[in-house]
Amino acid sequence: MPIIESVLNETRVFPPNKEFSEHANISNIAEYRALCMQAQEDYLGFWEKQAREHILWHKPFTRVLDEANPPFFKWFDDGELNISFNCLDRHLTTQPDKTAIIFESDDGQVIHSTYRDLHQRVCQFANALKSLNICKGNRVVIYMPMCIEAVVAMQACARIGAIHSVVFGGFSAKSLHERIKDAGAVAVITADEQVRGGRNNPLKATVDEAIARGGTESVKSVIIYKRTGANISIEATRDVWWHEIIQNENTVCEPEWVNAEHTLFTLYTSGSTGKPKGVQHSSAGYLLGTIISMHWVFDYKSTDIFWCTADIGWVTGHSYVTYGPLAVGATQIIFEGTPTYPDAGRFWEIIQKHKVTTFYTAPTAIRSLIKLGPDLPEKYDLSSLRLLGSVGEPINPEAWIWYYNKVGRAHCPIVDTWWQTETGSHMIAPLPGIVPLKPGSCTLPLPGIFAAIVDETGHDVETGEGGFLVIKRPFPSQVRTLWGNPERFKETYFPIEMGHGRYYLSGDSANCDQDGYFWIMGRIDDVLNVSGHRLGTMEIESALVAHPLVAEAAVVGKPHEIKGESIIAFVVMKDQCPQGTAAIQIVNELRNWVAKEIGPIAKPDEVRFGDNLPKTRSGKIMRRLLRTLAKGEEITQDTSTLENPAILDQLQQAIK
Ligand code: ATP
Ligand code: MG
Repeated sequence: MPIIESVLNETRVFPPNKEFSEHANISNIAEYRALCMQAQEDYLGFWEKQAREHILWHKPFTRVLDEANPPFFKWFDDGELNISFNCLDRHLTTQPDKTAIIFESDDGQVIHSTYRDLHQRVCQFANALKSLNICKGNRVVIYMPMCIEAVVAMQACARIGAIHSVVFGGFSAKSLHERIKDAGAVAVITADEQVRGGRNNPLKATVDEAIARGGTESVKSVIIYKRTGANISIEATRDVWWHEIIQNENTVCEPEWVNAEHTLFTLYTSGSTGKPKGVQHSSAGYLLGTIISMHWVFDYKSTDIFWCTADIGWVTGHSYVTYGPLAVGATQIIFEGTPTYPDAGRFWEIIQKHKVTTFYTAPTAIRSLIKLGPDLPEKYDLSSLRLLGSVGEPINPEAWIWYYNKVGRAHCPIVDTWWQTETGSHMIAPLPGIVPLKPGSCTLPLPGIFAAIVDETGHDVETGEGGFLVIKRPFPSQVRTLWGNPERFKETYFPIEMGHGRYYLSGDSANCDQDGYFWIMGRIDDVLNVSGHRLGTMEIESALVAHPLVAEAAVVGKPHEIKGESIIAFVVMKDQCPQGTAAIQIVNELRNWVAKEIGPIAKPDEVRFGDNLPKTRSGKIMRRLLRTLAKGEEITQDTSTLENPAILDQLQQAIK
């Protein structure tokens, strides 16, 4: 009996677009195989070559990998570099006047910042940080809206060797407080307010509230970027205005050269499965991962207009807004607002207006845009697009098909990128010039990434069988430890039964088909156990989403005397929640639909309707809360990272 059974039957294949392939950075399969072969045969030589080619070293490294104390691996550890130098200074001689950032505000104002301008801003702000006595190794919490200054703040920390810890601007005072305290931050960088979807939300007031909760004596300065000019309270001994502290500062700042293993940042995971973990990343290894994925997966070209819609509060915003695009010298969009303001065409309008070539977003955004305006993309000129990407959750095949046809007009490859806060950069993703795509599969591991599916004892499962997704060899961009908690780091990611504590355990379940394609099946914690069959959540949810009336779905297990668990499906319809007899009819239809699409074993026992699903602030479905609801129990878990707490009440009613 396999560890986890696969029931999904997805057979569509989309070969690479010829025109795209001709110009792709990796344009033939032989080149890809050669890279994989090299990584296989000479692992260290492979990574050494990449690190020398893509990173500007102040002092070149002589050691590639130090494995003396697994799982605390060190990469390139006697080398010295500066990350901000690698993202900015390197472009000053070659393309100082190229636009680095096109910022679009919530109300549609546009600001361009060139590499020269961005470099000056970063240097000036870095000097201001130094004048506040912030120095190498200090932790700085950044709690800001999406704006050029947020990137400047992160880059300035990197320039002086301070460790940033970005907290998503939508988090509450409680979450912010926990993170400030855990990091022992010396400073918090924030704004008076943020503007999203036509609404002003306080940030500074939330910082005040967080600090007032106590245990935050480490915080000596709060730096406030004036976004709206709202009335805020100022604590004279602690608070300073961004525009005032930079006023007399020089626009040149010698970078602080740091060791390759110097901590660049800590970042808390989304909290989909439990208490967020303070993931700690290095400098060189992390940067390398972001750069090579820009080239391989995003097929970066100097003419691209790159747009990753993720907030800087998530790892995607770190790797593919603040670091990767700048390191390769790209022009990128930073958008302050939301996809649905002033209407559900906002993303498409921005693509049209700025001639975006590469668009990277999350399945949750795609599903909500399908729900709000399935034909809206047709009203815009999206012909500049050449590549689409997806990240954050498994993308259901039907959502993939819509994205491909309606947004990509059936000619843009979709890179479905599997990775995590902990991996720092893409791990499994198609190289768009050569890899045929299968909707719902993140396809093949990148060269140098030894991904595999194993059972509880760490042994490979049979082809096609579901199991635990692991990465068998260390890789440069991987998490170094959990902030202040090395024991939890070891237990969580490197359990002893997995390759003698050397395999990185991702926490996701997946299977790998006969072509070597990976299919993420869900979180290990969410696996259902129905009559002795262990099923992932993704496949049943995808079958539900494939029904023409369904916009989104989440399935969870509920203890059942005979079967072990019964399957409860929470469904969001494209139209309003059905009521009365209409609801009963649709429930039957959906149950039969799933039975027909993927088999009777996966047929939901119950179907519940809601206007939405409980999601993290980054838009991921929180199944653990649904599990509690399904059991009819009170929710006692941490819901501080929840986007829409009110939805729990509605769903609770639905259960009753
Ligand atoms: P926590 O670890 O606190 O529960 P999280 O796992 O949601 O939060 P992230 O690091 O932001 O935090 O998300 C990584 C996870 O997102 C992956 O482990 C996987 O479950 C999911 N994921 C990301 N990209 C993809 C993808 N392309 N396909 C399938 N799943 C994905
Ligand atoms: Mg996780």
